[in-house]
Amino acid sequence: MKHLSILGSTGSIGVSTLEIVAAHPDRFCIAAMTAGKNLELFARQIRQFSPRIAAVASADDIPRLREMCSGITVEIRGGVEGLIAAATADETDMVVAAIVGAAGLVPTAAAIRAGKDIALANKETLVTAGHLFMEMVAEFGVKLYPVDSEHSAVFQSIEGHRSQDISKIILTASGGPFLNTPAGQLAGVTVRDALNHPNWSMGRKISIDSATMMNKGLEVLEARWLFDTPVDKIDVNIHPQSIIHSMVEYIDGCVIAQLGSPDMKAPIAYALSYPERVATGVKPLDLTAFSGLTFYKPDLAKFRCLSLAYQAINAGESMPAVMNAANEIAVETFLAGGIGFVQIAEVIERTMAGHQAHALKSIDEVLLADSWGREQARNICGGLHN
Ligand code: NAD
Ligand code: MG
Repeated sequence: MKHLSILGSTGSIGVSTLEIVAAHPDRFCIAAMTAGKNLELFARQIRQFSPRIAAVASADDIPRLREMCSGITVEIRGGVEGLIAAATADETDMVVAAIVGAAGLVPTAAAIRAGKDIALANKETLVTAGHLFMEMVAEFGVKLYPVDSEHSAVFQSIEGHRSQDISKIILTASGGPFLNTPAGQLAGVTVRDALNHPNWSMGRKISIDSATMMNKGLEVLEARWLFDTPVDKIDVNIHPQSIIHSMVEYIDGCVIAQLGSPDMKAPIAYALSYPERVATGVKPLDLTAFSGLTFYKPDLAKFRCLSLAYQAINAGESMPAVMNAANEIAVETFLAGGIGFVQIAEVIERTMAGHQAHALKSIDEVLLADSWGREQARNICGGLHN
């Protein structure tokens, strides 16, 4: 029986993870869960999965959650301490890191230090602090399994091969809802248009990241750290059908790809059950239903966020953490109606322009760079009018 702690159980990844757990009660059980604001769903999940610990992001929500869980035996915690308690629960074998944004950094780091294996959905941890996380993974001897579909595809395509035989990693990207929207029309798109992803059903922040293609920039950095591969050996191909989830090219010219219906339950289940596979209910792939699978290069002039991500990658050190912070604020402000879609890139660009990259030697230094980026981006958003 594998005991899991799920950080972010009420989110899109969290809910899909719990569906897999519910389908395999002989294999998985829940030791601890955490959630942000959706207490109604969280209380229902606590009732169904009986975790020993349940933690809410804000300690102010503890009394309400306690009331909602009256009659259930569960230790209710809150705040950062609560998230850490959930991430480090004694009986936990694996932590599913599915909080969105840099808020996932501290509990995920605590889990690694407590020797827990990690199923990583929270790509922002590797974007902001990849070198520190990979050092911790090695130091504490834990295993890190990718949940992101592209990285799961790469992970599945490199198994049994020598890293020196890899010539290239090819990440695929759907191109999001605006793939075929002329660049000149992007200024007029609405929040609803931007959330309307053609292939994947995901949380709001990552859906906007997919629409701007910042998501692919974050994923290049994620791949760089997960697979210890230089960025110039990581290509991005637009593949609108989202059937090939990514590929690895070898020095002999062979390319190995992983295919499947676009459903996050498949990569989540693989991270949970590796090296075995379990049934997921994911729709079997019918390749005859497609008239063709297409691939082409992304348009960096149109998708400015992807271009900014490459700039941050090249600048290195603290720049990706600052870029990520500015992106989180810009996306949040766009979702709240405070800025327009094309201003997301403007906020990130101006925040990065005001930052001098410097080395980050600890998680605390990463958090400082993150706070600096958030404050700058908030000020810039305040000066823009939608
Ligand atoms: P989501 O917004 O649906 O869920 C986020 C979860 O984190 C929720 O449980 C929420 O309550 C919690 N949370 C939010 N802010 C928090 C805070 N400050 N402190 C503590 N908890 C907080 O997000 P999601 O789409 O499930 O994505 C989660 C992570 O997985 C992201 O990093 C995303 O990039 C990554 N990811 C998601 C998908 C997908 O299909 N949804 C695919 C690949 C990677
Ligand atoms: Mg992805």
